[in-house]
Amino acid sequence: IRVTFTPIHRREIGITGTIAVLQDVTEQEEMEHTRREFVANVSHELRTPLTTIRSYAEALDEGAMQEPQLGERFVGVIRNETERMIRLVTDLLHLSRLDSNEAPLRIQPVDVEELLEDVADRFSFQMQEKQITDRVIIEQGIGAVMMDRDQVDQVLDNLVSNGLKYTPEGGSIMIEARRSGGLLAISVQDTGIGIPKKDLDRIFERFYRVDKARSRNMGGTGLGLSIAREIVKAHGGTITLESEFGKGTRATFTLPLPGEGREAQ
Ligand code: ADP
Repeated sequence: IRVTFTPIHRREIGITGTIAVLQDVTEQEEMEHTRREFVANVSHELRTPLTTIRSYAEALDEGAMQEPQLGERFVGVIRNETERMIRLVTDLLHLSRLDSNEAPLRIQPVDVEELLEDVADRFSFQMQEKQITDRVIIEQGIGAVMMDRDQVDQVLDNLVSNGLKYTPEGGSIMIEARRSGGLLAISVQDTGIGIPKKDLDRIFERFYRVDKARSRNMGGTGLGLSIAREIVKAHGGTITLESEFGKGTRATFTLPLPGEGREAQ
């Protein structure tokens, strides 16, 4: 609470009283704090790959180029770091468009079975590479649901790619759609490393990761879940994570179903 005192002056008499103004600035300060933290995080996330790129470029300059194998490896590192930075900037731009409501949703009817089969297809190569089995389960009669297909594809891609990133070889990923309390609930469940309880509450925060080094090594930006949450929120739904450390994780998001008295915004 911010308190300001203003004395009341009367000519000749002098000060006759004081006006005290009590202002609740908690929310303002929290917003300012979040904003500052975000800017610091962005700077740090961009600086890390840039310093790596600089040192590898210097090493190439100072002779590594003369050794073809070493040179090739260093160029590979530079390329990977650049790719990650491009992903990071793309994610940041996407978030900023979602924050400012600049890109209105393009809502259209989408066949849920096709939606889920397509995401499984997009990842089938990577699944095979890691010997991860995937299953798509759809409750009968769901049919088409109103949504922005591109944006929901992005949510699914982020969730399935997390499942892939954090599930060891030989595991499995299940993508499921069902009706739940007048909503469509879509979940992505894996048999991966899981998330410790203490991190679960903060996992949707921008740049929050359980293990920063691991996420970076996997090419993660730390923004995937925040983007997913913003997209789901824009559709009038919610997204939650349940996880058991060492056993697996299930991410579930909901979308309003037609004729259930809730309209997508
Ligand atoms: P990242 O790019 O780091 O994957 P996300 O926002 O997608 O960023 O996820 C944030 C963090 O949540 C990850 O760094 C990881 O620690 C944790 N996480 C997300 N999904 C899973 C999952 N399926 N299994 C285990 N950990 C997960």
